[in-house]
Amino acid sequence: MSVGVVRETAPGERRVALVPKVVASLVGKKVPVIVEEGAGLGALIPDQDFVDAGATIGDPYSADVVLRVSPPSDAEIGRLRNGQKLIGFLAPRNSDNKIGALKAAGVEAYAVEAIPRISRAQVMDALSSQANVSGYKSVIVAADLSTRFFPMLTTAAGTVKPATVLVLGVGVAGLQALATAKRLGGRTTGYDVRPEVAEQVRSVGAQWLDLGIDAAGEGGYARELTDAERAQQQQALEDAIKGFDVVITTALVPGRPAPRLVTAAAVEGMKPGSVVVDLAGETGGNCELTVPGETVVRHDVTITSPLNLPATMPEHASELYSKNVFALIDLMLDDNGALVPDFTDEVVASACVTRDSEVSA
Ligand code: NAD
Repeated sequence: MSVGVVRETAPGERRVALVPKVVASLVGKKVPVIVEEGAGLGALIPDQDFVDAGATIGDPYSADVVLRVSPPSDAEIGRLRNGQKLIGFLAPRNSDNKIGALKAAGVEAYAVEAIPRISRAQVMDALSSQANVSGYKSVIVAADLSTRFFPMLTTAAGTVKPATVLVLGVGVAGLQALATAKRLGGRTTGYDVRPEVAEQVRSVGAQWLDLGIDAAGEGGYARELTDAERAQQQQALEDAIKGFDVVITTALVPGRPAPRLVTAAAVEGMKPGSVVVDLAGETGGNCELTVPGETVVRHDVTITSPLNLPATMPEHASELYSKNVFALIDLMLDDNGALVPDFTDEVVASACVTRDSEVSA
């Protein structure tokens, strides 16, 4: 069984599915690795580093298993063949996903988003590894756009108060954002509709904003709010948001448009020079004034909605992603380097979204 690593083609995508260290681990397990020329360049990894790790440079689509980061384009699906395996982010919950086309091409596709969030599969959890990157970088972006310091400064020229930072939606990205903002010296507060998150928020030194709404859904995710709950939440947040210099939003509900948490009126209530970083732009955004993928200034508040923050830190994002992908492959490998997926294993069965021309996503 051989593995191919493609050169990503999505605009702005700089990550690569395997880094040389992980190539060496696969080669050590009798798995030949074929890397497309220039596949690592976005992450500043030259072809020679892959060769030194035991890979060959060639056509990744000639391999038995094709590895990638971003979902494939139609042209890339056209290069896949019947019976070939594919592992990557395939956005199975997005309405415009390519699962149907992969099925039509007879590809056995594994979507890393579909790996269950259970303890045993944590090492394969690419959603979490990349959300950590997004959460960290969202704070760096906020600090860059802010007209004010994050830390408290006591100087001969006077004392500067610390920035107040509110994170709305405290999953993996939100928790990392809170921890990063704290390390930068901000005064942090977290809010989520899952009450169990309060303890995690406090564990990273942040205050918990309690609005009295419990919308814990299935599998550790949130459910969508009712109209009454949404109105109550928006009003309460409108009042709370005024007091913050920075608001970072990461709220998502699986398979649904992003919940609207920050209204135009809430933005208008913020101090001039404040910043909103909206990580939910891909599903419409958590802020009413968000323009997905763009940075806009409204009422003297900067609102930015970067769409692929992990791609802006391609070195570490690729390193973490590669380890996730390796762990998934390793779960399916036998001692001779053959891929033998066990579909009675819930991790394998959940991750596999097309098989024998069937769609299970
Ligand atoms: P996510 O990206 O799907 O959502 C981000 C956050 O937005 C969630 O915390 C959610 O509760 C919140 N949210 C949704 N609607 C909201 C609203 N109207 N107002 C405020 N907040 C709202 O979340 P995620 O980071 O993918 O994490 C999802 C779950 O998976 C969490 O329970 C997390 O702890 C769990 N998880 C488990 C494992 C594991 O055990 N292996 C690993 C990672 C994550």
